[in-house]
Formats: sequence, structure tokens, C-alpha cells
Amino acid sequence: AIKVNALQKSFTGAPVLKGISVEVEQGEMLALIGSSGSGKSTLMRHLSGLTLADRGPASLVEVLGRKVQQHGRAASDIRRTRARIGHVFQQFNLINRLSVQTNVLIGALGRVPVWRSLPGWFTDAERRLALEALELVGLREHAMKRASTLSGGQQQRVAIARALMQQAEVILADEPIASLDPESSRLVMETLQRINRERGITVIVTLHQVDYARQYCRRAIALRDGEVFFNGPISALDDTTLATLYGTAHETAE
Ligand code: ATP
Ligand code: MG
Repeated sequence: AIKVNALQKSFTGAPVLKGISVEVEQGEMLALIGSSGSGKSTLMRHLSGLTLADRGPASLVEVLGRKVQQHGRAASDIRRTRARIGHVFQQFNLINRLSVQTNVLIGALGRVPVWRSLPGWFTDAERRLALEALELVGLREHAMKRASTLSGGQQQRVAIARALMQQAEVILADEPIASLDPESSRLVMETLQRINRERGITVIVTLHQVDYARQYCRRAIALRDGEVFFNGPISALDDTTLATLYGTAHETAE
């Protein structure tokens, strides 16, 4: 589903990604780990073309079989590819005063004509789809509540439902549980796992806690100083590797 080749990125002369090449299969749920500042978020932003790589002859990002960027230039049809990529962030980015259901419906806006892209102008079919998405994330009974009245973990699941409404085929979740308590974290991770299994959506999730990666992902890619330091089954992540990645206190690396 995703192919990254020879990706390099510097910010004002300082290299942040130093030649990243990785592939992700359709339907995978992959953990992206590494200490703070290792380049995880920067790599995620390159996947959807929010950040363009440095010029480089082999530099390429492909998602769902389409070019997102090549040689540091955005593909001309990048908007069409982006429409199929959902983003879930640490801060949930919901519109607080709108209902949960409307927040989910907003996920459909990328696909509807502008003249009816206002809340209140959604079709019955779209409203039904939004409720189905809420059902899948376990929040159907909260559909009519204001988004701001939900807990952090529930809001994060609304954000996931919004990505479902967008009909995303790839979901990039950057630190989706970093600000959540263990119980909410578990529910969010289970939700990501459910949409991965039931809808075949490819999920890439950056995590600070390796325990969660172990529990929910089969493969991990670990970055260290802008390079791929580990790429393989979670079971092969041994203590030596983790110590190199995080120093000694890897369990709570923040
Ligand atoms: P964390 O675990 O804290 O989220 P991360 O692995 O996501 O860290 P990035 O946010 O990708 O790390 O940042 C990697 C490096 O790139 C950091 O040193 C950061 O300061 C730098 N960086 C990221 N974005 C920019 C930017 N727009 N301008 C300048 N430097 C940046
Ligand atoms: Mg980050």
C-alpha cells in the first residue's frame, strides 16, 4: 500500500530523514517507533505529501499505487490520493460545538460538491454511513452529543470514525494515545485494530510505548536519528535493540 524510497529531508541544513526506504503492505497494521525527535512525525507527513522531501534522484513516495511525491515534487494528482488517506492526531481536531455525528460527516466533505458541503446539507445516505462508522467505533449512542462532552478517548474514536467516513484506505495515526489513560488507550488501539481487520484499512501508528506496539501490531519500524534502525516482526524487538533506541527507560520514553 505504501512505498517510500531514498527519502531525505533537511530543515535549514539539519538532516532529519537520512535516506528512508520502507514498504508497507495493504492491510498491515504497523507500529512506527523511536525516541522523541527521531523523525516519526516528519516521515508520516511525507506519506501524505504535507511535507515535500529534498530533491534526490531516487526519492519517491507512493501510496495506494499512486505517486504522492517524487524528487521532492508533489504529484499532480496528489489531492486524489490524499482523499484516500485519513489522519488521526494526538489532539483530536474535532469541532467542539458540533455534534459527534456532524463531526463524523465532515469526513465526507472531501468528496461532495462544495455547494452542499455545509452541515445540514448531508444526505440521508451519508447520515446513515456516519452512524455506521460510529457503531464500528462503539459510539453510536453518543451521536447527538456535542463533541466537547466526550472523553479524550471517545473523541479520538470520533476522529477514527471521521476517517472511516472519508473512506480512507490508509490511516496514519500519529501518537493517537499519547494523551490518554491506559483504559482509553486500549479502546483506541482496539478500534484501530478493528477497522484494520474488518475493513482491511492499512494503519500506521506511531507509539511512544512499545508495549502497545507489541500488543496490537505484528511489525514495527523503528527510526533512530532519521534512519531506519529496525524493521521487522515485533517479536524480534529485543532489549538490546530497545536500549539502543531509547536508552534504558524505554517503557516511558516521552
Ligand atoms: P516525537 O516522538 O517527539 O513526536 P518525532 O519522532 O515525531 O518526535 P519529528 O517531529 O519528526 O520527531 O522531528 C524530527 C526532527 O525534525 C526534530 O529534531 C525536529 O525538531 C525537526 N523538525 C521537524 N519539523 C520541523 C520543521 N518544520 N522545521 C524545523 N525542524 C523540524
Ligand atoms: Mg512526533
